[in-house]
Amino acid sequence: MVIAMAQHFLLSRQAKTLTVGTVLRMSDAEAEGLFKRIRWADNNGEPVCPHCASTNAYDCRRPNGAPRYRCKDCNKDFSITSGTLFASHKMPLRSYLAAIALFINEVKGKSMLALSRDLGLSYKTAFVLCHKMREAISEEMKGRQIGDDRPEAEIDAAYFGGHVRPKNLAEERIDRRLKQNQSGKRKAVVVIREKGGETLPGVFKSESAALAWIKRRVEKGTVLHADESPAWNTLHARFEMKRIDHQVAYSLDGACTNWAESYFSRLRRGEMGHHHHIAGPYLLRYAQEAAWREDNRRTANGEQVQRVVDLALGKRSSPDFVGYWQRHVAK
Ligand SMILES: [Zn+2]
Repeated sequence: MVIAMAQHFLLSRQAKTLTVGTVLRMSDAEAEGLFKRIRWADNNGEPVCPHCASTNAYDCRRPNGAPRYRCKDCNKDFSITSGTLFASHKMPLRSYLAAIALFINEVKGKSMLALSRDLGLSYKTAFVLCHKMREAISEEMKGRQIGDDRPEAEIDAAYFGGHVRPKNLAEERIDRRLKQNQSGKRKAVVVIREKGGETLPGVFKSESAALAWIKRRVEKGTVLHADESPAWNTLHARFEMKRIDHQVAYSLDGACTNWAESYFSRLRRGEMGHHHHIAGPYLLRYAQEAAWREDNRRTANGEQVQRVVDLALGKRSSPDFVGYWQRHVAK
């Protein structure tokens, strides 16, 4: 990231204006050029072989114009999306860029159904592309330790899922074909959030089911703030705890859980926009997305685009959605 700062800086201007609208107005050549500059920012936008990391590659475009490269060192062919989250299916590059723009700028407060119409993608394609973005950003939370650079953190829990509002039944019927969507039981999202630092969410059956995870992911010596829920009582044995009884006050004697509550208010707002999906196996992804958006709320738009792209393009494949793509070819 630091080494490639110069290129990223140049890119960030374009990234800042990477809206669904600007992407849809791009020609094929423009979309290809921008994708190359983003993907291979560390090599001035020139191709790098995903098989052997050689920069010695040449253009061997398909007769239909589809961009392909051949590595002079290992002699293998690759495309702009080879070895990334977007590999293994064939869509216009514009659609990937639109998905990124959609995820960073547009997804909040606008229905994915309306967007899929705007983009000329099927609803499922827009849905899967957005989930790939969520999967990419969840990479940043792997192995995250809370309290390693902040002395104080907050824990809190809220329940999500488990009921479907009648007006959404039509959409719910469509989604039930997804095996992953068939069990929409109520789950607790538990968040651990450093005061002024990083956020780590998890999904559990209950608050007490999260205790082992909290002990594992919070550095010893961290002061933990929590509300009056008895589930947190056993944490006193391991951490210095500051408890706040919300029946009495929101902040008292230095104890408060405002950071955690700000996180949940974002997740609830997300729930409004995606209520028919924010349950079951997708709940963790939405919880991670809300954490990422909270942690990056002051990050410039262009930089957010760059980070999502770096994460999405650095990933080999998408375990959640590999089979899904094969069953549902983009319409
Ligand atoms: Zn190679």
